[in-house]
Amino acid sequence: MRLPEPAVPALPLVDGVAAATAALTGRRVAVLTGAGVSTDSGIPDYRGPDSPPRTPMTYQQFVSDPAFRRTYWARNHVGWRHVHRTHPNDGHRALARLEVRGLVVGVITQNVDRLHHQAGSRRVVDLHGTYADVLCLSCGARTTRDALARRLDELNPGFAERVAVDDVEIAPDADAVIASTEGFVVADCERCGGMLKPDITYFGENVPAPRVAAAFAIVDDADALLVAGSSLAVMSGLRFVRHAARTGRPVVIVNRGRTRGDDLATVRVDAGTSQVLTALDRGLPDLRADVGHERTG
Ligand SMILES: [Zn+2]
Repeated sequence: MRLPEPAVPALPLVDGVAAATAALTGRRVAVLTGAGVSTDSGIPDYRGPDSPPRTPMTYQQFVSDPAFRRTYWARNHVGWRHVHRTHPNDGHRALARLEVRGLVVGVITQNVDRLHHQAGSRRVVDLHGTYADVLCLSCGARTTRDALARRLDELNPGFAERVAVDDVEIAPDADAVIASTEGFVVADCERCGGMLKPDITYFGENVPAPRVAAAFAIVDDADALLVAGSSLAVMSGLRFVRHAARTGRPVVIVNRGRTRGDDLATVRVDAGTSQVLTALDRGLPDLRADVGHERTG
């Protein structure tokens, strides 16, 4: 990944929080979050600076190769339970509080783990979908991952229990690396027999247009954009940073390591998101009642 030249230096925690607080004070903030926000909840960030390289699966692989699909579902059958058991961390909770206080307009997240919802954030766009829902690619029927788990357990008795939990490496999309997936039986749509897919947007797949529009609306309703825990490696997230910068909104990026949006940032903080977001909730003053109307006035 070729990275742009940063416009401003990356600041460590204390200086970074001070600069971010100055940039965001008096502004209503749209937030874009990525995997880095969930690492403190025990969900690894496979693009983080310390992560081993991992090749993400593509939509094309999923729909065209039955063996690939079998492996995918077998791993997902093990991995999703781990994601299901995770809890929000201080960063998620700080964003939910900032929304209650009227400072955060809404959250656009690239994560599929639903932790912002769990933490109490109200206006959330799950840009890349959610692990908790399953979609039929033929008839569009939507079911819960929980209901599918019961069917997969019936089709594959004892499979999930045979995989030693401690040996499993879990990925942010509820995938798990396990030794053997041979003989795993995949479930099809109960209504039409069509192919089922987690309601997750994969590489090579477009984010549905209404979802993109809902995300742009959050940025347009705000006076600034805060990026937390994303390297902005994919265009689906980077475009909101470009949009904010193009429309004169300050962009604050909090991330460990470089990002593809560094040349557009007003402030860059190289620190953990849980600490920074908690500090921002403590440090940002309440908005004056008239502030929200300045842009339209
Ligand atoms: Zn169907």
